[in-house]
Amino acid sequence: MGKATTAYIGIGSNLGDRRGYIESSVKMLTGAPELGFLRISELIETAALPDGDHASYLNAVAEVETELDAQGLLKTLGEIEALLGRVREDRWGPRTIDLDLLLFGEEIVNEPTLTVPHPQMHLRSFVLDGLRELDSDLVHPVLGVAVGELAKRVNGRNFALDPKRPQLVSVAGLIGVGKTTLAKKLADELGGGILREPYDTNPYLAKVYAGQTEFALDSELYFLNWRVEQSDRNVLAAGRVVVSDYVFERGLIFARRLLSAEQLDSYEREYERMAERSESPVLVIYLWDSTQICLERIHNRNRPYEQRIRSDFLDLLMGDYERLLAEWKACPVIRLKSSEMDYDDSATIEGIANQVRHYTAMHVVSAGKRG
Ligand code: ATP
Ligand code: CA
Ligand code: CA
Repeated sequence: MGKATTAYIGIGSNLGDRRGYIESSVKMLTGAPELGFLRISELIETAALPDGDHASYLNAVAEVETELDAQGLLKTLGEIEALLGRVREDRWGPRTIDLDLLLFGEEIVNEPTLTVPHPQMHLRSFVLDGLRELDSDLVHPVLGVAVGELAKRVNGRNFALDPKRPQLVSVAGLIGVGKTTLAKKLADELGGGILREPYDTNPYLAKVYAGQTEFALDSELYFLNWRVEQSDRNVLAAGRVVVSDYVFERGLIFARRLLSAEQLDSYEREYERMAERSESPVLVIYLWDSTQICLERIHNRNRPYEQRIRSDFLDLLMGDYERLLAEWKACPVIRLKSSEMDYDDSATIEGIANQVRHYTAMHVVSAGKRG
């Protein structure tokens, strides 16, 4: 007798009697020699990725125990797919049944025909929610993060890596939280470019902080123009990683707090036009900390014009960011607490960069509809 491993299988069907096919696959998993079926999650209905032009999927996750090795288990899954009438035509086309090997104990496999953990499982709520239901303590062995936490990052959504898009990673968070430092270090570690907000060159900023609110619109438009020049979807290169120390939507947060109703009106019109041009990120890193800690940092870095910032203003901005990111739909969001990180420790930065890499298509040669 070999050693038994607990493995997790992603089950999906989007053709014919979907529920029937899933039930049959479970029966076959139960009946397969050297395979013990343990449990199955609830069924989850999911639109086909990425543009929903195929019939929607019914998905579930099954827990099995096996003495096979990972390749042996994949072979068994392929046999069950064949028995259930799966025809392999178009890779991401409709199928009666799809059985993916998600996790195989804590093993990491990188072979031409098999990658474990499944390379896109951390981007898919229909997988993570099922895994979390079966065992919320399960940890992704490459990312070192529990499936419950991974599920929060995607927040009910499903994403696909797409090497045809610019791989924009955006660091969001309060003034003084450390966005620029983190963005620079990540860009270095990932070998990517950096997009920075032009605090030093914005000619209106000091005036605004000094209470001359008539310059607030100019100041915000200056930032807006700069941001769109940098993150123009026609300027950023497909497949290339670039890290920004802001999210584009930050412009609205500040405008709504700083501008008069009349100024805001003009700003919002301009914002709408610019937003269409700007590339949206494949990943947001939300760097957060208490307003007290941000305020201390602002004092320590000692940019003269920032010294008037008060903690009640930071509290308001913090609430704005929390709301923005709670409703964020465009990409996964990783939350990091700034004071829990040592930016000068290379292992810390490597650790974060390793996470980020798996949310970008840096190493992906092809991608498309997946389910
Ligand atoms: P996705 O893998 O993104 O969910 P898919 O399930 O539609 O897409 P398939 O056409 O079923 O993709 O599989 C393509 C190939 O992926 C298979 O031939 C298999 O060798 C390979 N593969 C690599 N890793 C795994 C894995 N962990 N589970 C299942 N198949 C895998
Ligand atoms: Ca598959
Ligand atoms: Ca699949």
